[in-house]
Amino acid sequence: MKDRLPSPFFLLLQETGALAERRHVRVHAVGGFVRDLLLGIPNLDLDLVVEGDGIRFAKAVARRYQARVTTHERFGTVVVTFADGHTFDVATARTESYDSPAALPTVQRSSIKQDVRRRDFTINTLAIRLNTPRFGELVDSHGGRRDLQDKTIRVLHGLSFIDDPTRVFRAIRYEQRLGFQLDWNTAVLMTEAVRMGLVHRLSPSRLSAELLHVLSEREPVKTLARLADFNLLQFIHPRLKWSSGLAQLLNAVEKAVAWHAGLSLGRLTSPWVVYGMALLDPLPQPVVQETLARLTFPRRQAQSLLWVSQENARLLPTVTRTVKPSETFRALCHLPDETLVFLRAKTRSARAKQNISDMFTVYRRVRPILTGNDLKAMGLKPGPSYNKILNRLLDARLNGAVETEADEHRLVHRLAKRC
Ligand code: ATP
Repeated sequence: MKDRLPSPFFLLLQETGALAERRHVRVHAVGGFVRDLLLGIPNLDLDLVVEGDGIRFAKAVARRYQARVTTHERFGTVVVTFADGHTFDVATARTESYDSPAALPTVQRSSIKQDVRRRDFTINTLAIRLNTPRFGELVDSHGGRRDLQDKTIRVLHGLSFIDDPTRVFRAIRYEQRLGFQLDWNTAVLMTEAVRMGLVHRLSPSRLSAELLHVLSEREPVKTLARLADFNLLQFIHPRLKWSSGLAQLLNAVEKAVAWHAGLSLGRLTSPWVVYGMALLDPLPQPVVQETLARLTFPRRQAQSLLWVSQENARLLPTVTRTVKPSETFRALCHLPDETLVFLRAKTRSARAKQNISDMFTVYRRVRPILTGNDLKAMGLKPGPSYNKILNRLLDARLNGAVETEADEHRLVHRLAKRC
């Protein structure tokens, strides 16, 4: 741990363990943090499980570091937020039972060994003791270490996917992200769960959350292809089918997202949306509308997805045809980066690709020399005509029709006469 973690973080774990010992509770780091630590993958997303009162312990840690706590009494969980914005989760060790398949579980307090029994896969059941005398000891009650070494995704029991069908998506995400393989029996159980239509029992918000996680993976295309192998696209919409066309478009999106990242214009706010646009692309527009109405994606992104499905057939020919930079600019200037990146991936026209690239790298940076203040100084009466004139100035500059400030002055005089 000492070698693989930043030293302040390691120190925090040690101090947390010492505090736990003093307060007579047992504390463990669990889940993805431990899995990734053993795999050598950087991950400071810390989940602690407390045998005892997790909420009280989290509050004691927060006092010690002047951190904030957000408590979810019902689940016995707390988010601790440090002054630098870093957070970690603290939970009370608990057991969960499912009253009916795919429902949310009922919860009771328990020990770490019982707690990890409710987890999805053996590789996520590993825990590390933090209490002082046994700090750093691995608790491996389900063969998680062996499965990490064998690169295997394995459920803990035969009813796992029935208890929670979201695990079908989680299994595929881990398999593809980590380059692991599904254990044979786990794959059989998954196929069976899909055949039984268990995924249909998930609420739209749980299904949407899973889909969003898939689309947000670092390499979502192979993860989506794997969902298709397991016939899981049908749960997004029965008409959604994997095809070579869809695979091509998704690969083009992957390249376009990488191209955008290379421009150093800052990151896309929601790269997942670009993959979402590609995924929904084969579907007719009313079907996309119906699908988005059912799923519960964040509003702004859902609107972009819908807009693209309605408008890309109209917009792409325009961007292919446009010759003047101002025409390209006007056609694209209101669109979010995600949409532009998608259109760049979707078009086969070299001209359209170039136009969209120019939008990012050239057109958006162009400004006329003269401003509203200059128009005022030239004696023009402030009003709606200012906007018109400034827009025409910008168009002229984009098209190279004006070069100097004097050119702009002349153009303003001409335009002012007409306004
Ligand atoms: P990621 O790297 O994708 O965030 P993670 O392993 O940290 O992966 P989370 O989704 O943050 O995963 O969940 C934290 C832990 O909670 C997991 O390691 C897993 O053990 C457990 N968990 C999450 N979802 C489920 C589920 N549906 N069923 C069982 N256990 C789950």
